[in-house]
Amino acid sequence: MNLEGKVAIVTGGSRGIGASIARRYGAEGARVAVVAHTNLDKARAVAGEIVSAGGEAQAFQADVAKVSECARLADAVIAAFGTVDILVNNAGIFIAATIEETTEEIWDAQMDINLKGSFFMAKAVVPAMKSTGRGKIINVTSIAGVGGFPDSGAYCSSKGGQVIMVKALCLELAKYRINVNSLAPGNIRTDMNAPFRADPDYNAHQKSLTPAGVDHLDAEDLTGAAVFLASADSDMVHGANLLVDGGWAAW
Ligand code: NAD
Repeated sequence: MNLEGKVAIVTGGSRGIGASIARRYGAEGARVAVVAHTNLDKARAVAGEIVSAGGEAQAFQADVAKVSECARLADAVIAAFGTVDILVNNAGIFIAATIEETTEEIWDAQMDINLKGSFFMAKAVVPAMKSTGRGKIINVTSIAGVGGFPDSGAYCSSKGGQVIMVKALCLELAKYRINVNSLAPGNIRTDMNAPFRADPDYNAHQKSLTPAGVDHLDAEDLTGAAVFLASADSDMVHGANLLVDGGWAAW
């Protein structure tokens, strides 16, 4: 197992990509803090699956858009597990909107959760990581952070911000043996895009643009890269944005 005994926080861990990463981290020996936004029962269910499979996990609740909640979450995980070795900033939202439709609320919601939440969750765990002399911070970004998408100006801005954030933070934190990197999913089959996937033409379009020949990847396709970025195998990987997109961004 690659993450034996490590303490990992996975935000948005109650479903989708976060739940898949949390389950895989549990299977790799990590003690996993599965974080829900509001529905603690869903996080408890994922933590329960990890425990049933022989791992260690606990459910937590926090709204990462609020700086005070980020600090409270980090404190609660440290109280429960003793430290934090790995942070996966996976919590995120996508609101499709043209520039004309994008209100201040739509802009702020995506910035606050996707970008501000990632920064202040990192800030909340850095003291523990500095004190142990190691740490792994992983932003779940997107192909929408390296290329543009229509009707997604605020979302792309938030994801591009996450990508450049890891470069800035790695310049500050690499000397403390804290690795800050991104994992950039392509189009993944989750609740986030379920309404779009109901349209066969949409799926055909996605498939035509994915060199691997699939319309969507599964959340489990990301978990190997998520383990790599959390493990000692990536100790000299700093400031990277690892694409797991079936080749989408290669065009
Ligand atoms: P999802 O909607 O299934 O999961 C998002 C998670 O974030 C949920 O658990 C939700 O509760 C949590 N969350 C939302 N707001 C929160 C808040 N304020 N505080 C704490 N948690 C909050 O979507 P997903 O597809 O699993 O997305 C996970 C991440 O992957 C997101 O950052 C998303 O932008 C990114 N991503 C997804 C895709 C895709 O195709 N699905 C592609 C690229 C990137």
